Amino acid sequence: ENIIELKHITKTFEDGFHAVEDFNLEVKRGEFVTFLGPSGCGKTTTLRMIAGFDIPSEGEILLNGKPITDLPPHKRPINTVFQRYALFPHMNIFDNIAFGLKQKKMPKGVIEKKVKKVLELVDLEGFENRSVSTLSGGQQQRVAIARAVVNEPEILLLDEPLGALDLKMRKEMQLELKAMHKELGITFIYVTHDQEEALTMSDKIVVMSEGKTQQIGTPEDIYNEPKNAFVADFIGDSNIFNGIMTGHLRARFCGGEFDCVDDVEEGTHITAVVRPEDVILTAPAEGIIQGEVTSVIFKGMHYEITVASGKNEMVIQSVKSAKPGDKVGMRVDPDNIHIMIAE
Ligand code: ADP
Ligand code: MG
Repeated sequence: ENIIELKHITKTFEDGFHAVEDFNLEVKRGEFVTFLGPSGCGKTTTLRMIAGFDIPSEGEILLNGKPITDLPPHKRPINTVFQRYALFPHMNIFDNIAFGLKQKKMPKGVIEKKVKKVLELVDLEGFENRSVSTLSGGQQQRVAIARAVVNEPEILLLDEPLGALDLKMRKEMQLELKAMHKELGITFIYVTHDQEEALTMSDKIVVMSEGKTQQIGTPEDIYNEPKNAFVADFIGDSNIFNGIMTGHLRARFCGGEFDCVDDVEEGTHITAVVRPEDVILTAPAEGIIQGEVTSVIFKGMHYEITVASGKNEMVIQSVKSAKPGDKVGMRVDPDNIHIMIAE
């Protein structure tokens, strides 16, 4: 069942700016949902409305089916982890984590047990007496997570929690957070502008742009069936072309005519999206289109090859290398061509 529902949420700030517009979302209990979009698209604002730090200008938020739109943050069973750790620098780790529990006047023995348990969860057993300043950035963020889950919220909000960490630590923490989500069984709503992070971690991704939802779906849905050019461009690398339907399941773009599987009416102007890993390099005569290699970049697992074809450019991921100047052909399997009706 749905733990949280956002219905037609709009946030307009005093200066008249619409940070979030007609946002609709249903989150199931226990789900790992990610808000993904470029900086400024309204991710934090939406999270702040779920937490209760901001009140929507319009719309309704339901928790377990009951309206909580105006409920203050401390009355919601929801905690937030921010990008900056926001620990109390003068307290040791135990006191940082126990802070909320002490305010609730929980018995000392219970607090000690709970703190010990969450420290195990975040892999910091025995860190109770350490001071904040002796911890690395990654460890501080673990403490912040421990503090946010120690009072067993129903929903944990995480606003770019790994944004301040280096790449290696971030990859490690991604896996740990995912494991933690499984172990705790609580609902996670996660914010990132990093598409790879979103694809790795989420059950469901909400792609956002300019305050609006662009697509909601599983990582596979979003990657394989992007609903519009924004999503295709933002998620993964894409070749994007303007084109036209020339017949039933036939589309013209990038200087060639391709068979496709999306049934769009003849004469319709379209946007065609092709993933770099879906382009097949052939001998010139065997390609649907032809071109000349302009650059080859070694990427470790594959080469990134750019081919100029007339006025167009195609980026290709290939396990085989090529040389600038090579004449090549290119094909794409029909079900790897994503056709969208142009706006
Ligand atoms: P994100 O987290 O996706 O980067 P935010 O939700 O922080 O985006 O911000 C969305 C937009 O709303 C931005 O353009 C930001 O400048 C604007 N904004 C955020 N807070 C306020 C505010 N208090 N007053 C006016 N504009 C704001
Ligand atoms: Mg933000």
